[in-house]
Amino acid sequence: MLAPFDPWAWALTVVMSMAGGIAILWIVGGYYHLRYYRLRRHDPAAWKCQPQRFLRPEQQRQAMRLSTMNLAIGGLLSGTLIDAIQRGLQTPIYFDVDERGWPYALASTALLLVLVDGLAYYSHRLLHHKALFRYIHRWHHRYVATTPFVVTAMHPVEFLVFQAATFLPLFVIPFHYASVIAVFVYILVFNIVDHSGVKLHSRLPWQGPSTFHDDHHVHFHCNFGQVLMLWDRLHGTLRRRNRRYGVDVFGGKGVPVGDGADEFVKY
Ligand SMILES: [Zn+2]
Ligand SMILES: [Zn+2]
Repeated sequence: MLAPFDPWAWALTVVMSMAGGIAILWIVGGYYHLRYYRLRRHDPAAWKCQPQRFLRPEQQRQAMRLSTMNLAIGGLLSGTLIDAIQRGLQTPIYFDVDERGWPYALASTALLLVLVDGLAYYSHRLLHHKALFRYIHRWHHRYVATTPFVVTAMHPVEFLVFQAATFLPLFVIPFHYASVIAVFVYILVFNIVDHSGVKLHSRLPWQGPSTFHDDHHVHFHCNFGQVLMLWDRLHGTLRRRNRRYGVDVFGGKGVPVGDGADEFVKY
């Protein structure tokens, strides 16, 4: 049985969850926007993944609105879940590290990242099926040259799919609450940087460079992964040289062109 619903406590938790996600978007996104799109707009060849292409001002404003709105929806859902847990909803999430020890806490944090990343790959790949792509995922692919604010600029249904994929492991495996917060914040920050449109190499060995997801926006149906490139390697959906990709080339593997070497692009 849950403790009685307290609308004020619920509203406070929801507002804090919304504010957390939206603040991360505007602080991290604002940093890249200012540092590159404002201060270094004159020499895009030096820093931009796609130096010839910029979003139109109205597209940028649309992306800002859509990303903020989706993060507000995300805050509503995660705030409601946190409120329910505080009122006694039973989940495997635990609060005292000593309950399972540090080795478990650290290993399960890595496991959570791998699980959420895998679920993100498969749901993203599903969204690239013709009908889902046309009616839902196309919203996110309107932005060929991405900016940090494109990160959650997507159809709300798509955002809910990713949100569900992210929450799913929490109901199955015990994770320390701090691991959950750390992994979710990391994924959001990573995705903002990944959509920055700025050529960036990763300092962390398991992450790809920003050109990996940038190529997804240029070529559409390849490079479906998020943090890890493992899933694309596993399924052969990593972009290859000498293949034609495009909005109308579905399936994730492109179309062979010419008889050159059919090798995977090295990121
Ligand atoms: Zn996509
Ligand atoms: Zn994207």
